[in-house]
Amino acid sequence: MSRILEYADYEDGQLLRADVVVVGTGAGGAVVGKELAEAGYDVLFVEEGGYHPTSSFNPFVEESVPRMYRDASATVILGKPPIPYVEGRCVGGSTTLNGGMTWRTPESVLAEWEAITGQPDLSSASLDRLFTRVEEHVHAKPQASYSIGNDSRVMDRGAAKLGFEYLHNIRNQDRCVGANSCVLGCPTGAKRSTLVSYMPKAFEAGARCLTLLRADELLIEGGRCRGVRCRGVNPRTRREDKRVDVRADAVVLACGSIHTPNLLLRHDAGRPSGQLGRNFLCHPNAKVLAVYPFALKSWEGVNQGGQVRGFRDRGILFAENFVPPGALAAQLHVHGAEAWELMQDYDRMALTGVLVEDSRPGRVRRSLFGMPVPTYDITHEDHDRFLDGVTHLAELHFSMGATRVYLPFSNLHSIDSPDELPKIRKTQRKRSSMELFTVHLMGTARMGSRRERSVTDLRGAVWDLPGCWVADASLFPTAVGVNPQITIMALANLVAERMAADDLDRR
Ligand SMILES: Cc1cc2nc3c(=O)[nH]c(=O)nc-3n(C[C@H](O)[C@H](O)[C@H](O)COP(=O)(O)OP(=O)(O)OC[C@H]3O[C@@H](n4cnc5c(N)ncnc54)[C@H](O)[C@@H]3O)c2cc1C
Repeated sequence: MSRILEYADYEDGQLLRADVVVVGTGAGGAVVGKELAEAGYDVLFVEEGGYHPTSSFNPFVEESVPRMYRDASATVILGKPPIPYVEGRCVGGSTTLNGGMTWRTPESVLAEWEAITGQPDLSSASLDRLFTRVEEHVHAKPQASYSIGNDSRVMDRGAAKLGFEYLHNIRNQDRCVGANSCVLGCPTGAKRSTLVSYMPKAFEAGARCLTLLRADELLIEGGRCRGVRCRGVNPRTRREDKRVDVRADAVVLACGSIHTPNLLLRHDAGRPSGQLGRNFLCHPNAKVLAVYPFALKSWEGVNQGGQVRGFRDRGILFAENFVPPGALAAQLHVHGAEAWELMQDYDRMALTGVLVEDSRPGRVRRSLFGMPVPTYDITHEDHDRFLDGVTHLAELHFSMGATRVYLPFSNLHSIDSPDELPKIRKTQRKRSSMELFTVHLMGTARMGSRRERSVTDLRGAVWDLPGCWVADASLFPTAVGVNPQITIMALANLVAERMAADDLDRR
C-alpha cells in the first residue's frame, strides 16, 4: 500500500482517523511526524503541496517554480519596503528547495531564550543532544572542497583581503557534487531535505501522507482540538473541490510561520495572550550582484560555500547564493532587452547578499477572505546596517577585480568602481528605495513559559487549546541570525518527545 496518497486516492466527504495528524511536511512537520511514528503512534500527514520525487527535478524554472513554490513565488510581505518572500508548497516543504545550510542556533541566542523563558528547556545544554540527533539524520557535514565554486572562492579570498571572517558552510548533504540546483530540488538527492531524510523514515514507521490537501479549519469540540477539516486541491484546476476530515487525538500544526498562525487565527485559538501572529521575524536580505572581467562559472559548485561573519556582532552576515539562470534573471532590476543583455554575462557573475538580523518584528494577520497578510517594516537602524553591509560587500567585490556591482536600490542600480561607493550613502535616504527579499520566516506562535507572553508552552502545546501543538519556525521566541532549519528541527524533535512523554496530553 502506498503511504503517499494523492488527490485521486481520497473521496469528497471522507473521514479519516489517526492518533496524530501533522499539518505540513517541512523542517518542523517531517521531524515531529517521524519521531512520533517511530514512538508507535499512527501518524497522518496532511500536505497542501504535491509529492515530487528527486527523479522529477529539473533545471527549468518555469516548470519547477509553479509546481513547488507557494503561488509560484509571487508572495510578498507588506511594509516599508515590501519584501518578496518564497516558501515551499510540496512534500518536504521549504527544505526541498532550500540551500542546505545547517547552522546550529548561536549560543548567544539560546542564552537569550533561556533568559526570556526563565527555564532551562531552550538552553544550549538542553538542546545540544537534539542538535546532534537532527544533524545526524540530515547528514550535516562540511562541504567537500571539490564542490566549492569560484564565486565562493572569490568571497573567501576577498574576505581575507579585507580582514573579514569567512566560515566554510556546514550543509545537510551526502556527497554533494555542487550541481547548484538546490532551489529547484536537488537533482541527485544528495541534499538531505526532509523529502529524502525524515519523510521516508516516517513512512517506514507506518506514517501516511495525504498530499494536495489543505487544512482549512480545526475541529474543536468541547474546547479540545479533535482534528482538521481539509480541502482537496484538484491538481489540474487548482480548485478545492473535495472535503476531507481527519480526526485525531493530537493535531500538530507545522505549516510555517505564516500559515500556522493563520489557521489558529480562524478560531481565535491562542489569541488571548495577544501574541498570536505577532513577533513575525524574517531576516531580510539584500542582493548584491558582481560582474567580473573573467569567467567564474559559478554554476559549477554549490550555491553557497561559506558565509562572511565579520559583522555578526552587528547582526550582519554576507553570503554568496548562486542560482540557475531563470531564477537569477527574475531577480534583476531590469527587464526585456536590457535583462537579456545583462544575462550575457552569466558566466562572469557572483550573486551575493547581505542578511540582517531583525531588530523589530512584524505581524501576520488573517484577512476577511481567510488569507494571511504578513506585514513588516525595517527600522531606520536596520536600514543603516544594510547600507553598511552593501558598501562593504561591494568593496569586497571591487577588491577582487569586479568591474561592475549591481546594487539593491531602486534609484541606484549599479556602480563601476570603488570610487563610487560613497554614492550609496548619498542617494539612500529612504527605506522605500531598498529592494529586499527573504526565505527565513520565523516567530508568530512563540514558545514560552508564561501564557501572557507566548502562544505555546515549552512543550509546543497551544495555551488554552488542548489537543493542539505547534512544531515549526513559528515557535521561535526571537530571530536566530543564522539559517534556521536546524533550530526548527531540534525544536520539533523536542515537541515530539514531550507529546510522547505526556502520551499526547493524556488523549
Ligand atoms: C529558497 C530557500 C532557501 C533556503 N535556504 C535555507 C538554508 O540554506 N538553510 C536553512 O537553514 N534554511 C533555509 N531556508 C529556510 C528553511 O527552509 C525554512 O526556514 C524551513 O524549511 C521552515 O520550516 P517550517 O517547518 O516552518 O516550514 P516549511 O518547511 O515551509 O513547511 C511548511 C509546510 O506546510 C505546508 N502547508 C502550509 N499550510 C498548509 C495547510 N493549510 N494545509 C496543509 N499543508 C500546509 C506547506 O506546503 C509546506 O510543505 C530556505 C528557504 C527557501 C524557500
